[in-house]
Amino acid sequence: MKKSIGIDLGTTNSAAAIKKARVEVLQNAEGEFITPSCVTVRKRLMRKPEFIVGRHALEWLRQEPENTVTAVKRLIGRNYHDPEVQELIRNGRFRCPLSPHSSGTKNSLAITAGGREFSPEEISAHILAKIKADAERALGGEVDTAVITVPAYFNDKQKHATRTAAALAGLKVSRLLPEPTAAAISFGVDQLSGTEGKTVLVFDFGGGTLDLSLLAISGGQIIEIAKGGDMWLGGEDIDNLLVVHALRETAAREDMDDLRLRALIGRLEPGQRNRLLAELKTAAEKTKIALSDSPEACLSVLGLLTDEDGDPLNIEAECSREQLEELMAPTLAALLKLVRGLLTESHFSKELVDLVLLVGGSSRISCVINALRQEFGPEKVLAHERPMLAVAEGAAILSCRLADTQECPSCGKEAGQHDAVCPHCQFDLENHAVRHGLVDIVHAAAHDYFIRLENDQRFLLIKKNTPLPCSSTEVFQLVDAEQELAHIRFYNVVNGREERIGDLWLGIDRDSGGPEPEEPPRVAVTLDIDESNLVSVRAALAGQPEVKVEGTLSRGKADERLFLLLEQTISEADRKGCSAYTVADLLCRARGIIRSIRKVVDPRTGAADEALCRQVEEKIRKAAAIAEAEEAPLTRIYYAESMLNDYGSLIAPALQEKIISKIERLRKIDEDGGYEETMQAMDELAAALEDPGLNLAHDLTQIENACEICHRTEPDKATRFMRAAAAVLEAAETGEEPDIAQLEAVMPEVEDVLDQHARSAQKIHRDIRR
Ligand code: AMP
Repeated sequence: MKKSIGIDLGTTNSAAAIKKARVEVLQNAEGEFITPSCVTVRKRLMRKPEFIVGRHALEWLRQEPENTVTAVKRLIGRNYHDPEVQELIRNGRFRCPLSPHSSGTKNSLAITAGGREFSPEEISAHILAKIKADAERALGGEVDTAVITVPAYFNDKQKHATRTAAALAGLKVSRLLPEPTAAAISFGVDQLSGTEGKTVLVFDFGGGTLDLSLLAISGGQIIEIAKGGDMWLGGEDIDNLLVVHALRETAAREDMDDLRLRALIGRLEPGQRNRLLAELKTAAEKTKIALSDSPEACLSVLGLLTDEDGDPLNIEAECSREQLEELMAPTLAALLKLVRGLLTESHFSKELVDLVLLVGGSSRISCVINALRQEFGPEKVLAHERPMLAVAEGAAILSCRLADTQECPSCGKEAGQHDAVCPHCQFDLENHAVRHGLVDIVHAAAHDYFIRLENDQRFLLIKKNTPLPCSSTEVFQLVDAEQELAHIRFYNVVNGREERIGDLWLGIDRDSGGPEPEEPPRVAVTLDIDESNLVSVRAALAGQPEVKVEGTLSRGKADERLFLLLEQTISEADRKGCSAYTVADLLCRARGIIRSIRKVVDPRTGAADEALCRQVEEKIRKAAAIAEAEEAPLTRIYYAESMLNDYGSLIAPALQEKIISKIERLRKIDEDGGYEETMQAMDELAAALEDPGLNLAHDLTQIENACEICHRTEPDKATRFMRAAAAVLEAAETGEEPDIAQLEAVMPEVEDVLDQHARSAQKIHRDIRR
């Protein structure tokens, strides 16, 4: 039987658990319950790199900090230009080089380690793969599904990236569960009896992040009311405070300036300096942890530093709980501000909170516990017995609940998830679930989700805290009846900041026959959010069911870069103002390009098809060059083909064949070839079209085109043109000599209409409106 586990994929540490009759936290291959979220990539000559994960990677951190990735969760689903990522780079907190991915958008993010580029999800996948392998070892069977926890404030991109990491590690994700909710489940709050609801604040203070969540619990249901926290505040910040304290104390003891001590460290050669800083950090963390159990502790790093004369300079400092509290005063103030802010934002007062649950390793720091006790009253603040494992335990409980099968608590054999009684021993499973287990969780949308309409007008599709799963479909209208592109831009709001979360492009083929619509067509846009807060989007054109797109949003990968390139090309052509023929050519190319871009990225693994990607990029560049030169090979093909179709009977067969071969050649070269070759093939077609044997067919085709242009605006003129053409056609068909004079009389006017149309710059509509 394949197994489902719960995984806490933490910033600093990760853990896995399973629920059978009881919840068990699983030991990893090193015999520990916690696996450091740390990956070292070791380059190997002529072979694939080696990935070392967990405790052993932490050991490599000292020797190869530039190839060891820690805290990748801070990067997952983020863009290179995100202020948070830039801040990490500025502070040097990330020792591996960060850059945009060479095949992604300028804003994508790659970590270079072991001489190769990795996306954050690829690195996370290695952590998950180790957890999966270790769990399989511990359980003696295959693990294929997991509930993975994520911070409550993770946005859609971050959650999708987490899901991609799981797919790369070979794990199905049955739910992405907010960490605070997981913690609450492990506290057993889902079992709170009675119908009277309780309001619970989960305070999850981990190694790198603070996750806050306000939950309402009633009758076995957990409802997420509001979330908050700080992605950049955690135990590591407190370690850093202790490092600063130790340096300051050492400098004071040695009677030297702080700056001088730092200069001595700065002068060390890089390997030694890294080792000293890593040891200092480890010693600081040990001191901090020791202070959670004893009133005083000592921080020391011996023998790694010397003064200017080469005499040993040991870094040593005593630290008491009171001193730690003093050092942490700004941190404590920040923590309380975040808690109060969350309550105010959700219209709760602290009196309305019934329980405060402390989870995460850093919630064991005594001044943190005291600050919360003071704020809410000591009786309301509960500490988890295993704060660092609570999240994994909660995930395991839900994972068991979501699995297709369950282990009977009485006989240990397999029963169906929805069996009322065990098929083996008749144990009352239903009653057991009601008494002991989680009944249901109602997740809520993490953000406001909206799209931008014409003139950048904002249209809300789903409001923050809407119960999940939810779906919203709204009907909009294209801005122009003949519009051939619709570009729908999706946004969400995270911490008051608007984020563009992705786009959908619809290409509308106007050549598919049927009458021209009088009104701009309508488009239905749907945004779905599943229980894991993952967003998927759809758009479909009313009355043209073949024009639809669906999927998840592009996320900084090659497809997003290509869509951006296409957007720039179209905007540039629009800004410059191209002729109607050039615009028609560009729109036709754009539709093909949109179809190709959608195939570039595998939606499950996020892997990009590099060859296709290069091909599409080439096509976009060619489209840009063609628009820039105001050429229109596709429009020319269209013209030649409609002439052959409509007036073929007036053209000598040999000439027809010659034109068909030129059309085919141009089409093929346009598909596969470069700009120069295409232009050459186009000139060849143009030359063939100059054959005097085509004069009559040209005139008739031009009349038809002119009619199409002016039939709405100048119907009388169109009728006159048509009459002249009809007389000539009739004569030609009956074998009589056509009355060319009548035709020649209207041709100057026809050419005028066509010229004006060609010269009039066409707006390239892409927006939608309500
Ligand atoms: P988590 O992300 O929940 O695994 O928490 C890891 C963080 O908790 C790290 O910064 C640890 O240093 C910190 N931590 C673990 N145990 C303790 C403790 N007893 N007292 C204070 N901090 C702790």
